Amino acid sequence: MVALDSDAALVLFSAGQDSTTCLAWALDRFRRVETIGFEYGQRHGIEMELREPIRRKLAALDPAWAARLGPDRVIALDVLGQVSESALTSDLPMGKRPDGLPATFVPGRNLVFFTFAAIVAYQRGLKHVVGGMCETDFSGYPDCRDDAIKALQAAINLGMDARLVLETPLMWIDKAATWRLAESLGRSPLVELVRTETHSCYRGVRGTLHDWGHGCGDCDACALRAKGWAAYAAMRASAAAGTHRPTGL
Ligand code: ZN
Repeated sequence: MVALDSDAALVLFSAGQDSTTCLAWALDRFRRVETIGFEYGQRHGIEMELREPIRRKLAALDPAWAARLGPDRVIALDVLGQVSESALTSDLPMGKRPDGLPATFVPGRNLVFFTFAAIVAYQRGLKHVVGGMCETDFSGYPDCRDDAIKALQAAINLGMDARLVLETPLMWIDKAATWRLAESLGRSPLVELVRTETHSCYRGVRGTLHDWGHGCGDCDACALRAKGWAAYAAMRASAAAGTHRPTGL
C-alpha cells in the first residue's frame, strides 16, 4: 500500500466561499496543504482568475498558513463540459429541471473532481482530500451528499489500494455556520476576505459588492450565499448586543 503523509492535504479549491473556508480549515490543521482546481468549460472564467490572489491573501493572514501552503494545480477537464449539458457549462436557462434537480447540475462532476484529486493526492503522498460539499444547505446536487462521497472514498481506496480520506468539513453545517467557521479560523480578517474576494455566482457577475459579497443576486448560488450571510449577520448582531447586556438580568 502506498505511503501517505497523514499531516498533508489536497484541497479542491474553486475560489468560492465554501472551498476558501475549506482551504483555511486545512491550513489550520495540516502541516502541508496543496490546492487543485478544474477547468471544465464553465460558462465564465472568473474562478480561475481569482484563485491565485485568494491563495496569496489567505497566506498573508498568518505566517504559519504561509509556511504550510504548497503548490496549486489546475487540471483541464474540458471533456466534462463536452459530454454534459447544464446551465453551468452552456447558455441554458437556470432554474429547475423537470425532475426537480437544478439546471446547473453537471452529472458526476463532484465524483470526477474527487477522483482526479485522489489521483494527484496519491502521487503527491497527501492523505487527506478536502472538498466543500454540503448536504445541509445546498442546491440539491446528489453528488454533494455524504453517502455519495463516502461510497466514492471506499471505491477509490479499493481501486488504488490506498487509505485516502475524503474530508468534507462543511457537510453538516449550514451557510451561516460556514461563515462562523471562517470567523473561528481567522476572525474578521478571514470573514472579510471570504466576503469580498471569493466568488459563488453561477453567472460570473462581480460588479457591486453587496453585504454578502459579489454576484448577480438572483441565481441559486447568490441566493444561498445571501441567506447564509443574513443569518450570520443577525447572529453576530445579537451576540454583540448580548455582550453589552448588564449582568444579573
Ligand atoms: Zn449569481
